[in-house]
Amino acid sequence: MSLTIYNTLTRSKQEFKPLHEGMVGMYVCGPTVYSDSHIGHGKSYVSFDIIVRYLRFLRYKVLYVQNITDVGHLLDDGEDRMLKQSRIEKAHPMQIAETVTRSYFEDMDALNVLRPDISPRASGHIVEQIELVKQLLAKGDAYEVNGSVYFEVRKFKSYGKLSGRVIEDMKEGTRVEVKSEKRNPEDFALWKKAEPEHVMRWPSPWSVGFPGWHLECSAMSMKYLGETFDIHGGGLDNQFPHHECEVAQSESATGKPFVRYWIHNNLVTVNGQKMSKSLGNFVTLKDLFRKFDPLVIRFFILQSHYRSTLDFSEEAIEASGSGLAKVHAAWRKLTDALGSAPPGSPSGAESAKLRQLRENLIAAMDDDFNTPKAIAHLFELVSIVNEWLSSGKLPSSTTLQEALRCFEEFGGVVLGILPAGPKGKETADAETERGLMELILSLRKRARQASQWQTADEIRKALENLKIKVEDAKDGSSTWQKG
Ligand code: ZN
Repeated sequence: MSLTIYNTLTRSKQEFKPLHEGMVGMYVCGPTVYSDSHIGHGKSYVSFDIIVRYLRFLRYKVLYVQNITDVGHLLDDGEDRMLKQSRIEKAHPMQIAETVTRSYFEDMDALNVLRPDISPRASGHIVEQIELVKQLLAKGDAYEVNGSVYFEVRKFKSYGKLSGRVIEDMKEGTRVEVKSEKRNPEDFALWKKAEPEHVMRWPSPWSVGFPGWHLECSAMSMKYLGETFDIHGGGLDNQFPHHECEVAQSESATGKPFVRYWIHNNLVTVNGQKMSKSLGNFVTLKDLFRKFDPLVIRFFILQSHYRSTLDFSEEAIEASGSGLAKVHAAWRKLTDALGSAPPGSPSGAESAKLRQLRENLIAAMDDDFNTPKAIAHLFELVSIVNEWLSSGKLPSSTTLQEALRCFEEFGGVVLGILPAGPKGKETADAETERGLMELILSLRKRARQASQWQTADEIRKALENLKIKVEDAKDGSSTWQKG
């Protein structure tokens, strides 16, 4: 089986085929840095973290870009979120952006979310945004009025192809601006002339002003990933109008498809209602971390699929906590048991069970990153290990190593739910070891295919000296085991 991803653009699960073999360009809409992250952000960025981790597990070279919105994100009343917060806190908007960005990364580190490869800031890419506006003006898809520039939505014939929404919805979404200078109510701002009180302002050919929010994601994603790239992710609430506008302006400017796979993660709800800052029913991650281990929060998030809603309750998190404790306990006991296990070759039946389990874990993740299913399989591993330990009849240390590797690959590398510290380091070491062994065995396979039997034998013997046993199957593939 191969990886399939639910693509919002086609509303179906599709086999994943990157634009360039072995490489993946991925962009995810990052936070607007005006206040502390809540569990909704946690769900979003943990979900995309899993996607990046699994793509890397599959040996793709992933370039992961996630922006920081520090300018231009307007509230429904037309006010800039950053400016509003700076007025409340009597601080410079860039001071707030800096403080909140640090706090965001702190929270994500605690949740064991790997940092993006590039975290571009909107305010640091004004030049690129101005260039994009110029391109759209030159093509006649945008127009200037009184120092502001708007995208003319009607000019983009396939507007709505991502969200399935129509221009009429766009009109409703921008009710505040209906009386404005725009040609049509559905048009959206690419560049806004700054009012005198607007601190965040830059010179441009049209006015001293600031970019519209949608613009930054097009400009920054294309700068780092190219005009067409593999994956664009974001929250379901950003599908419309934000992502629809991104598609319209990017494809109008380049004449090429913008994104091949659109991935949207679902929201966190409280008693069935969306959790949001405006409804006041949100819980910040920092508050939650005072009550729960961040890894428990991560595990809680992963127990539902990224495309399902996650209903928040402290009772549910507590239940996740006891589940995760069982995983950790089995993993630790297994590590401790290694020393007392009898040496020798793996038991065929136990090995086959573990191999099947590993295949099931991969199949679950291949199926649109189905983490709840993967976790269910991980619990099967917990049961197997507990059975071994309670029966008092330990299988050989080679079999225990196999089980440990399964824990560390899926619990550690892919799901990221094993604790850090010395054990966490072991997980990273296991990953390096796996990569090196794959490399060595593929070189050996090449030697065998070229009938260079002596080289193949030398590699096998050298590995044996390192207590790594290689077994060759009839189909030309090889497996390896330590011990
Ligand atoms: Zn965005």
